Amino acid sequence: MSSEQKKQLQINRRNFLKAGVAATFLGVAGVLKTPGKFASAANNYAVQYAAAPKGQWSKIHPVHDMGSAAVRYVEHNDQWLGTTKIVGKIKNISEAENATALVVRRQLGELGANGVGDKAFRGYMTQTARHPLNTAIGQAAVLIATPAAVSGKPNPDKLAIPDPEQMSMHIKDLGYFLHCDDIAIGKMPEYAYFSHHYLSLKDMAKKPMEECIEPVTERLPYVIGILKDQHLETTLGSTGYDGISDAQSFNAYSATAFVSVIIANYIRRLGYNARASHAFNNIVAVTPCLVAAGLGEMCRLGNGSLHPRLGFRHKAAVVTTDLPLAPDKPIDFGLQDFCRVCKKCAEECPAQAISYDADTVEYNGYLRWNVSTLKCSIFRVSNEEGVSCGRCMKVCPWNSKEDSWFHQAGTWMGSQNSAGASLLRKIDDMFGYGTEQILDYKWWLEYPEMYKIPETITIK
Ligand code: SF4
Ligand code: SF4
Repeated sequence: MSSEQKKQLQINRRNFLKAGVAATFLGVAGVLKTPGKFASAANNYAVQYAAAPKGQWSKIHPVHDMGSAAVRYVEHNDQWLGTTKIVGKIKNISEAENATALVVRRQLGELGANGVGDKAFRGYMTQTARHPLNTAIGQAAVLIATPAAVSGKPNPDKLAIPDPEQMSMHIKDLGYFLHCDDIAIGKMPEYAYFSHHYLSLKDMAKKPMEECIEPVTERLPYVIGILKDQHLETTLGSTGYDGISDAQSFNAYSATAFVSVIIANYIRRLGYNARASHAFNNIVAVTPCLVAAGLGEMCRLGNGSLHPRLGFRHKAAVVTTDLPLAPDKPIDFGLQDFCRVCKKCAEECPAQAISYDADTVEYNGYLRWNVSTLKCSIFRVSNEEGVSCGRCMKVCPWNSKEDSWFHQAGTWMGSQNSAGASLLRKIDDMFGYGTEQILDYKWWLEYPEMYKIPETITIK
């Protein structure tokens, strides 16, 4: 940002505060430090839900930190997953059908024509290596991706454990002790299990499919969702698709993978079944697990969930288990109405992969906004201005832009109704968030010569 732009941003901010919007917000600022109040004040479901009747959500975070959003708890049933409407049978999908797998298998249909598919393939196969920090993080992450790291047999001698409420509190505290940014427990939706998962994504480039996948037979009753922030300052310093993008993603994926592997191993040592699923070895579709655990609502990204405090500036891993636990409930903080009017991610997506539609459409038995995961994947792996992409993450008004009372107030208003949504989006635009690079925070090294995708590659 130039000094002139910075000055303009400061003026905009002063004008905003002078304009009276601040006065409106001041009325709510006094209660922003106690977000729990909003759960009862704004509850239009008449459901007062206390996840831990013995007094605390956890010992470390007694009040679940959902930021300043007005959060209502909703019941989990056959017709809804949180605020996502279920309209038919949801089929268990194969991990081998995801967009990245289709890039590796070079099955992109018309989108792959005119050499686009070949370039995307070469881009994916060299993606991690095209920035030294990605390589460093990726090489560490594979160490916790082996079958022995994510799964195993439980201790045949069950150890004594507290009752489910206390045990749930204990598992959440363990997550915070291991440095995750949020953790919660859901009833595991059966349809969230993959029908098959792949043993090695890159192997699909050279081996028949049947040698690369195996069926998923596990069915356990609970899922522990684990979130890690992709780092606010780094996001603020990035365009969203420059050199740091892939490293941000890998870093948060690795951190959640590490926490999930430890928690699953710990639970098995207590004598119960537990399987870690993370970005590098996974048997579940993570988003419905997070929604079931009350860690977010499905958003305009179609296959992504958005957390009321972190937005979707996070990565996630989960642990499926039969450890006796007391599940949390899904949440509603008005995101469906917000996404209906916002559309900022759709406008800013360089691949035009996100729908501008006002309404959701049916996809595999549930309603969501349409998204072309293929267009997104092709852009991410083919991007030569940087490595990968997180532009939608950079621009979404929910992915908190700073820790201040007026941002909290904006988030609270955004969770109220579509007028609040519209206002928050306007404030976000007015401050220039997500539309420009803020150089103050840029700390990483760029290697543009490395971002070029090689014309030929050797598949080992
Ligand atoms: S990651 Fe980039 S290409 Fe994919 S949906 Fe987001 S903005 Fe679009
Ligand atoms: S940018 Fe707007 S429309 Fe897109 S996910 Fe965020 S809130 Fe929803």
